[in-house]
Amino acid sequence: MRISSAPAAAQSVNPKIALVVGTRPEIIKLAVLSKLLGERAYLIHTGQHFDDNLSAAFFATFGLTPPQLCLDGVGGASRAQQFSLITGELGRHFAERRPDAVVVQGDTNTAAAAAQAAHFAGIPVVHVEAGLRSNDRAMPEEINRILIGVVADHHCAPTEESAANLRLAGVDPRRVTVTGNTVVEATLECLPGPQDTEAVLSAHGVQAGHYALATIHRPENTDDPRRLDAILTELAKLPVPVVFSTHPRTRAAATRHGLSAALDRLGPVEPVGYRDFLALAQGAMLLISDSGGIQEECTVLKKPLIVVRNSTERPEAVEAGFAERVQPGPAISRAASRLLADTGLHARLAATPSPYGDGLASQRIVAILSQFTR
Ligand code: UDP
Repeated sequence: MRISSAPAAAQSVNPKIALVVGTRPEIIKLAVLSKLLGERAYLIHTGQHFDDNLSAAFFATFGLTPPQLCLDGVGGASRAQQFSLITGELGRHFAERRPDAVVVQGDTNTAAAAAQAAHFAGIPVVHVEAGLRSNDRAMPEEINRILIGVVADHHCAPTEESAANLRLAGVDPRRVTVTGNTVVEATLECLPGPQDTEAVLSAHGVQAGHYALATIHRPENTDDPRRLDAILTELAKLPVPVVFSTHPRTRAAATRHGLSAALDRLGPVEPVGYRDFLALAQGAMLLISDSGGIQEECTVLKKPLIVVRNSTERPEAVEAGFAERVQPGPAISRAASRLLADTGLHARLAATPSPYGDGLASQRIVAILSQFTR
């Protein structure tokens, strides 16, 4: 199922707010906002993630109206080409259509390029999930976050810490609102009940509380054969079965680096839909990942997470006791053994509130957007 665009004429009113998505996490984190805005907003898809199971399936999960505009040729292109294509195409679109505001989310090339295109066209930019900083300039996403921070007209910071980062960067505090993170309501909306969770676990051949769930896809872990090898080796050593949701980038990197056997030993699964992923996360005793979104979702699901990364722009999950950051290598199995042996851990996490908010972030963002609409 390829996403195809729905013509503007098919809609009864002329929506004034453009919501730009291009990847799996952007669809997840703008889905509830899109539904709350209804006919006031329309979606644009840049096609940065073009696989069905990273994109179209998420539109179906949330019951989203198809995008009015889909770009071609962005997925798989170099970073420079993605920027040039998105700024060019969206620059033209915004200049002609002149929405009242353009909403971008997070730190992808899509978000950074769309924010610039809107700014160049003189359209106000609202940044959802603003102010995250890893202070690690080697991360492409860190540069994207800084770029968006410069052009955004309003910054929806998920936490007080991210708002403080924006103040440090010299952003006028009147342009910053602490909204919480929209992933909280997305998680709560899609979290399956006990019966559906049981069916998903059984389809994956695992029992609740007796396995770990892992995802690894960041360039820092997949581009370097030694890091990827160390991660796959450590996952294979864990004392519990591992469900390894394998991003296409990780599969391609394993093939390129001659690590297919090490990957296949884990019995990797294709990326799963959001509801199934949340079911698997809910049933797991431990999560292991380098994903950004999973660092937030673990605080809603009350699950311990080992973050395999050089740095994180989401220190709140670590500070609250949900996540622990380690480097690839023996630190992974050491941390896993400690967490698996900690009998009081799950009760402690269950009693710890999520630092990412109360599930009302999208509602607060609707109120912010009303300041921009004519
Ligand atoms: N996810 C999913 N299916 C999977 C793996 C992940 O639905 O098989 C979801 C996960 O719950 C999270 C999001 O995808 O919300 C994270 O996406 P990704 O790791 O690609 O991006 P990041 O969050 O690192 O920007």
